[in-house]
Amino acid sequence: MQKINREQDFFNRVQSLVPEERLHVNEPMSRHTTFKIGGPADFLIQPASAPEVAAVLTCAINCDMTVTILGNGSNVLVRDNGIRGVVLKFDEHMGYIRHQGDTIVAGAGATLADVSEYALEQQLAGLEFAIGIPGSIGGAVFMNAGAYDGEISSVVSAVTAVCPEGNIRRFSREEIHFTYRHSIFQENGCVICEIELELVPGKAKEIGRKMIDLTAKRESKQPLELPSAGSTFKRPPGYFAGTLIEQTGLKGLKIGGAQVSEKHAGFIVNAGSATAGDVLALIGEVQHRVHKKFGVMLHPEVRIIGE
Ligand SMILES: Cc1cc2nc3c(=O)[nH]c(=O)nc-3n(C[C@H](O)[C@H](O)[C@H](O)COP(=O)(O)OP(=O)(O)OC[C@H]3O[C@@H](n4cnc5c(N)ncnc54)[C@H](O)[C@@H]3O)c2cc1C
Repeated sequence: MQKINREQDFFNRVQSLVPEERLHVNEPMSRHTTFKIGGPADFLIQPASAPEVAAVLTCAINCDMTVTILGNGSNVLVRDNGIRGVVLKFDEHMGYIRHQGDTIVAGAGATLADVSEYALEQQLAGLEFAIGIPGSIGGAVFMNAGAYDGEISSVVSAVTAVCPEGNIRRFSREEIHFTYRHSIFQENGCVICEIELELVPGKAKEIGRKMIDLTAKRESKQPLELPSAGSTFKRPPGYFAGTLIEQTGLKGLKIGGAQVSEKHAGFIVNAGSATAGDVLALIGEVQHRVHKKFGVMLHPEVRIIGE
């Protein structure tokens, strides 16, 4: 009863902060993840500005509601019973992109593909590696996403975020403490709203050529035809997760609708109606068998959320 009152109270208050079309109730998370898996979120809000993010966070805190942040949902596995509380989903409503000289400024919801293409149009180099990563720029900073010897940390110059106290703060590159697939935002609870990228002038032809080459490389190696969340496991020091899984003979292993990709053993794919339970069971099985054969423990890169 108390929970219902709390939710009703939140709903009543948040309606004055966010228009109806960006406020969803009981929203299936399978619609918001590249895995196409996940039960419903109690509330899902698509914010349109940093002050709006701050207002919604304050409202959620006052109503004792848990907040989960989501970008394009390309690095998450949402459990089958969904997410209690509020999901703040960064997408096209906060997807602006502009530039000042060699600096590109983007809202956290802009996709990496759109920001990379914008950089190409402006003849700015340094973001070519990001063209095929299917996330938002906010999610890429949170994860310190990278590919083919490039990493978002090498081009980010500053980030503006809303911190748990509700204040809007600017972080310099040094303050973000980027390491492999890690940033300070994984610890400090601040919500990334705007990113500044420092790029270098280049030639459109060369930037475009590099993007085409990297896209072709990705398409030939990755199972892009099936829903997934990319590499399931982090790279263990000194090894490649995909190689260890393949050498353990696990390519194609299936539990329910979840399958170790036949094309790239580092990916678990949704081969048809997979539940989060199927994926979690398969992750556990892969971890167990690889550890038994090689003595190496694989840790998920995919972030597992919800209940
Ligand atoms: C086919 C495929 C290929 C991929 N290839 C790569 C690759 O080459 N390299 C790579 O690094 N990754 C890769 N990924 C994984 C994924 O695309 C990246 O990790 C990406 O950066 C995640 O961004 P997102 O917006 O989808 O984040 P989400 O999956 O929505 O969220 C990931 C985490 O970031 C947090 N987060 C998201 N936005 C914000 C924000 N604004 N403020 C605070 N926290 C936030 C979330 O709370 C969550 O914990 C791939 C995924 C797929 C499906």
